Amino acid sequence: MAQTFAGVPLATLVEKALGARGHSYSPYSKFRVGSALVTKDGTVYTGCNVENASYGGAICAERTSMVKAVSEGHRDFVAIAVATDLTETFGTPCGICRQFMSEFGTDLVVILVKPSGDVQQHTLKQLLPLAFGPSDL
Ligand SMILES: [Zn+2]
Repeated sequence: MAQTFAGVPLATLVEKALGARGHSYSPYSKFRVGSALVTKDGTVYTGCNVENASYGGAICAERTSMVKAVSEGHRDFVAIAVATDLTETFGTPCGICRQFMSEFGTDLVVILVKPSGDVQQHTLKQLLPLAFGPSDL
């Protein structure tokens, strides 16, 4: 039986993350990233990286989808698929995104996606051990 996240099939998340990668605005790095975030109620928010001529203003795909979801009232997340153009290795979320996503829980499943559709799964807890979060304040 196919793996699902809040009722959303893994294959759907992979497809949506790969598709969102096509919207990437990355004229400087040429590093395209797409994401697909699943909320507890099964809603999926996609995102892509959006760069800026003032480089520091860039935002990653993971944060784009999470900001979209939070701004629509969601705070409980189950999984996020992250797709890059890398073929030899799996692209992983940057440190800022790991910290940003951990604000809403470290049980989040992070699904890394290659263009071929191959996936690798980790929990955010595995990617960001000993995270600093809301309970530390
Ligand atoms: Zn990032």
